[in-house]
Amino acid sequence: MLLYLHDPHSYEHDTGTHLEINARVESIHTIATEKYELQSLTLREGSKEELYRIHDPSYVDWVETGYENGVRMIISSDTILSKGSYKIAKRAACSTKSVIDAFKEGKGVRAFLNLRPPGHHAEIITGQGFCIFNNIALMARYAQDVGYQKVLIIDFDVHHGNGTQDIFYKDNSVFYFSTHEAHNYPFTGTADEQGEGIGEGYTRNMPYKNGINDEEFLALFDALPDDFNPDIVLISAGYDLMKDEAISSANITFEGLAEMLDRIISRYYHLPIACVLEGGYDLDSLIKSVDVTLQALSKSIS
Ligand SMILES: [Zn+2]
Repeated sequence: MLLYLHDPHSYEHDTGTHLEINARVESIHTIATEKYELQSLTLREGSKEELYRIHDPSYVDWVETGYENGVRMIISSDTILSKGSYKIAKRAACSTKSVIDAFKEGKGVRAFLNLRPPGHHAEIITGQGFCIFNNIALMARYAQDVGYQKVLIIDFDVHHGNGTQDIFYKDNSVFYFSTHEAHNYPFTGTADEQGEGIGEGYTRNMPYKNGINDEEFLALFDALPDDFNPDIVLISAGYDLMKDEAISSANITFEGLAEMLDRIISRYYHLPIACVLEGGYDLDSLIKSVDVTLQALSKSIS
């Protein structure tokens, strides 16, 4: 059965009129539970010490006490800190461990994490770009803690996951592969950013031009690493690359998305695969995109 995570209280991360709103995960939850047989996993509150694994303690502590100290945003108004934000963001990041535990215990091999706030822009020392803590990075580190030594992260959000890259830049045990629009926030992720020290060669950026189509997009995935044999595959699933999304100029169709997911899943068929929600802001497009994703994940285990 498809493993699934959702936090019914994530509205407590209250972003007001921002693009990244709770209706995103609630809309996904409605269609996911109506159409698919899911095994819902238990949320974990986690602790700030767990977040220290990927973030500088001073940043985590600052977020923890931020709201009561009058902080209302992280870096800019793009990343809102409401009264409940710390609790919800901590719970999102730490709950990713429930999926790894379920994989480890043989409860399933495919998962969708319908969580917010997203995480891939959150760097070691700061959140930004709608992201407070880096969910997929904590998931990757925990996967390693329980024995999945080599982790492949594939990030197809239209924006470069600068945070995930930052956390694993000097690491050769986590391979970070990102496809993203070159001329879009956060303007990082050029092809020559490939890692550093022992991590050199373990970051692969595939920036693309504005207006990319399905064919051009699919070709980027030919560059997935042949010489890195992962034990688990974690996907930063950002749906802001779809043609109806106003936040980018990419023109990816639902057919293109389905084909990309099929290629990834068939390539790593034998491994646990988890999709972690990142971007995607047009609600109709987002719901259909996640539907396509849940279909792709489900059919690979049926
Ligand atoms: Zn994005």
